[in-house]
Amino acid sequence: MNSFEHAPANWAVKAQTISFDVRPWINGRQIEASTTEHFATFNPANGSRIADLPACGAAEIDSAVSAARAAFEQGTWANLSPRARARILMNFADAIERNADELALLDTLEMGMPISASAPDMRAAADAVRVAAEAADKLIDQVIPNDPSTLLLNLREPVGVVGAITPWNFPAYIGITKIAPALAVGNSVVLKPSEVASLSCLQLGKLAAAAGIPDGVLNIVPGLGSGAGAALASHMDVDLLTFTGSTATGKRLIELSGQSNMKRLILECGGKSPQIVFADMEYLDAVAEAVVGSITFNSGQVCVAGSRLLVERSIHDALVERVVTLASQIEAGNPLDETTSFGPLASREQHDRVRRYFAAGQDQGAVAVLPGGPAEGNEACYWLPTVFTDVRSDMRIAQEEIFGPVLSVFAFDDEIEAIKIANSTTYGLAANVWTRDLGRSLRLARAVKAGSVTIAGSPGATALDATAGAFEPHGQSGLGIEGGLDGMRAMTRLKSVSFSG
Ligand code: NAD
Repeated sequence: MNSFEHAPANWAVKAQTISFDVRPWINGRQIEASTTEHFATFNPANGSRIADLPACGAAEIDSAVSAARAAFEQGTWANLSPRARARILMNFADAIERNADELALLDTLEMGMPISASAPDMRAAADAVRVAAEAADKLIDQVIPNDPSTLLLNLREPVGVVGAITPWNFPAYIGITKIAPALAVGNSVVLKPSEVASLSCLQLGKLAAAAGIPDGVLNIVPGLGSGAGAALASHMDVDLLTFTGSTATGKRLIELSGQSNMKRLILECGGKSPQIVFADMEYLDAVAEAVVGSITFNSGQVCVAGSRLLVERSIHDALVERVVTLASQIEAGNPLDETTSFGPLASREQHDRVRRYFAAGQDQGAVAVLPGGPAEGNEACYWLPTVFTDVRSDMRIAQEEIFGPVLSVFAFDDEIEAIKIANSTTYGLAANVWTRDLGRSLRLARAVKAGSVTIAGSPGATALDATAGAFEPHGQSGLGIEGGLDGMRAMTRLKSVSFSG
């Protein structure tokens, strides 16, 4: 049964009265876009139209990049001491936290993430800004041993103007985690949020200005991928482009960089992450809970979602039974209800995509032991969790990112086969390994091709801390490093300087 009653009065009322600005934020103010073209965003929970936003293009991107470049050259931000930047970024973090409810609500309205997840997400985003601020003066440069008459230094400098293009699955969070490290090391930024959910990011400009970030240092331009996105990716005066989104778009950005100014790229793209469970794990209830949580959180629209479950044959049936029982108990609900943990998919397009993959799984012979599917009697965007068994690596549901609550289950006989299946996709974003065998966990940690491998030997396994830990995808999950001090270094360039006496 699904609960679509009424959201608690507070969120529902807030949703009706919330105010937002749809205009681009350029050079420290909201400006009128020169374009007359618009695009709309919709609430996937009920299909209602939320906003019409200007479909900015090359003109607005050009203004934003010029403002970012001017601010960078003037040094109003780049030439501040790291401590001074850190103080201002701390103010920015506090402002994000004070406005967390409004930012979370905009994300929930535009892409359906339950408010129970989007609100804590904003607090995590504020913390990500604090982590970057605290690290601003910790990127220690190097003095290289050389002959005594020479002092040879490796200096780190900001790259200059950073373009950021972000997806819709964690709209404000991903936007903020792009902005924070780029600003902390002294860059100026132009952010192009996803056209599916732009509103939360568009409110960040005012918060940044009030916190003391100088004009032109942070610019935010709404628009379509083919318009504002492509204009930013092919701009001749953008030094680095940091992107999170699909692999197909990531590949296009590589082309656009090559066709323009060879701007440096950080690409965090898709995944088909394995959850590998060995028979020595005795806590099958806890494993099942974690597996179901991983594929149903944010309705499976998570880059690191554990969408492939690899189970040692002797415990296959027992684990699948637990997974199916838990997944079948999940109730879809109104994302504005604080008790809802499972909301709609972000859009009708996303729903169509999941439906197509569901059909492909059946056509290719996988067994839908839990069919899930559209939630009865509700709007088109809801899809209840699906579990497929008897999946083979050559099936589309084993290879391609579905980005929905669809779990593909494989049985394996030994460690070698588990590693082979785990590494059998073109992706390499994340992996979870469940075993109590220390030697095996060490072997798996090295053998599985993924940017992060979580080894869990007991219930309550933790996920990667994406702000403190650095993360570098394998294969077509992307390129470049995000997170941690290494993610901040990736936003700088290295200069070798020698002094000879
Ligand atoms: P998407 O690639 O469709 O869009 C992402 C962004 O790119 C949007 O802002 C879009 O407007 C822009 N874009 C699209 N075409 C463009 C072009 N030609 N030039 C420039 N910009 C363009 O992805 P999505 O559907 O918004 O997000 C889902 C994808 O994001 C999934 O594949 C998911 O795995 C991935 N993702 C990855 C991570 C990670 O850390 N690796 C995190 C979250 C999401």
